[in-house]
Amino acid sequence: MSGFTVAIVGRPNVGKSTFFNRLLQERKAIVDDVSGVTRDRQYGVADWNGKSFNLIDTGGFVPDSTDVFETEIRKQVKIALDEANAVVFMCDAATGITDLDEAMSDVLRRTTKPVFLAVNKVDNHERLLEASEFYALGIEKIFFLSSMTGSGSGELLDAVAEIIPEDQAEVEVSTVPKFAIIGQPNVGKSSLLNALLGEERTIVSDIAGTTRDTIHTHYNLFNKEFILIDTAGIRRKTKVNEDLEFYSVIRAIRALDEADVCLLVLDAEKGISQQDLNIYSLAVKKGKGIVVLVNKWDLIKKETNTARDYEKELKQRLLPFNDVPILFISAVEKTRIMQAIEMALQVVENRQRKISTSELNEAIQKSLQAYHPPVVRGVPVSIKYVTQLPTPVPSFAFFCNHPDDVKQPYKNYLENQLRKTFQFTGTPMRLFFRKK
Ligand code: GDP
Ligand code: GDP
Repeated sequence: MSGFTVAIVGRPNVGKSTFFNRLLQERKAIVDDVSGVTRDRQYGVADWNGKSFNLIDTGGFVPDSTDVFETEIRKQVKIALDEANAVVFMCDAATGITDLDEAMSDVLRRTTKPVFLAVNKVDNHERLLEASEFYALGIEKIFFLSSMTGSGSGELLDAVAEIIPEDQAEVEVSTVPKFAIIGQPNVGKSSLLNALLGEERTIVSDIAGTTRDTIHTHYNLFNKEFILIDTAGIRRKTKVNEDLEFYSVIRAIRALDEADVCLLVLDAEKGISQQDLNIYSLAVKKGKGIVVLVNKWDLIKKETNTARDYEKELKQRLLPFNDVPILFISAVEKTRIMQAIEMALQVVENRQRKISTSELNEAIQKSLQAYHPPVVRGVPVSIKYVTQLPTPVPSFAFFCNHPDDVKQPYKNYLENQLRKTFQFTGTPMRLFFRKK
């Protein structure tokens, strides 16, 4: 999974969301619902020409006064330049160059990061002629497109994909597993980190992260070796709280990119929020291992079934993928901290598990007999054999006569059978159906 991040900036109504949604297609954009003054901010993972990258729409301010408007736009550009590897600057050919476009391009021209000027709403030939005025903004990489019809967006994406280094589109090879501690502000991430590292002064070293936004700490204790990726300690100076949260979301995405397993920390009293679910589903999409840690468990009044009921409810919220370990911990009282780490190491093992083709087929044959594949138009779907692919995320190819006739419910059944027979708890998996 690539750690490359592309930000889209531009004043409101130029068509950023339209472009964004087209690019993510059925992969739903994740909307960061900041109520009030700011419009929804979105981020997601895009694929183009076999490369994938994070895409963020830094949002737009819904203006009521021009002064505030300008400040907000500047802030948007600043976030983009701080957080992204490349920027798509979108303008609107239907309205032509505005003062704000000029102000933004002044800032963008000064950056060393690649900037792509996307002149949008070029729906027809006439517009294309008019749109040539945008050369005046002095941005070299200029593309004319219509996000509505999709024309021209391919060229822009080709150019973006081209600058993504091959090694950033590949999974890093390292034998030491990496865990990212992720969660909302104040859930106890720093406390957890201190509980793990604080007293025991056996931390081997502090190595710099591959990006300046994450801190990597090498941990080697009780025969357990791993790298903790932490974003908690870094706080950027910003006056506006919602920006802080947005920064922390972007940073969480980056930490996820670098990690093998995500330790998603929740506050037991507050439960799981929409933002947590967004991060969770992103981790699933990226095929990362996941362990959910319900922290501050010491604050919960407990009866016989409290933990069991809590877990049941939480698993319901995590659907469709909820085969993940959930642990109830207290960072402050240091309860079950080491178990959390052991669980994460177990998930690493599950994620790397390779099943032999013969074992796989034995198990799958049983499942096929217990519950037959669908009969479509009078023709029974027949699955001939299955094999595991050599990928970082457990992936299985099922060879069958009519791959398109295997629908989601049956796929889910097969996945559950695999999970039941072999241990894949905590790791997403992929099933492919191919013609044979
Ligand atoms: P954002 O505020 O920059 O995210 O802009 P939106 O994506 O919400 O688009 C603003 C308006 O422009 C909407 O009414 C879109 O339907 C329209 N729009 C977006 N892309 C195009 C385009 O390529 N051509 C035309 N004609 N309209 C577009
Ligand atoms: P972060 O923002 O996620 O790094 O959260 P902190 O580690 O700074 O913790 C936020 C607050 O929650 C602090 O006041 C902590 O003392 C408190 N806290 C963290 N973990 C626990 C816990 O397990 N139990 C209790 N009671 N409080 C905790």
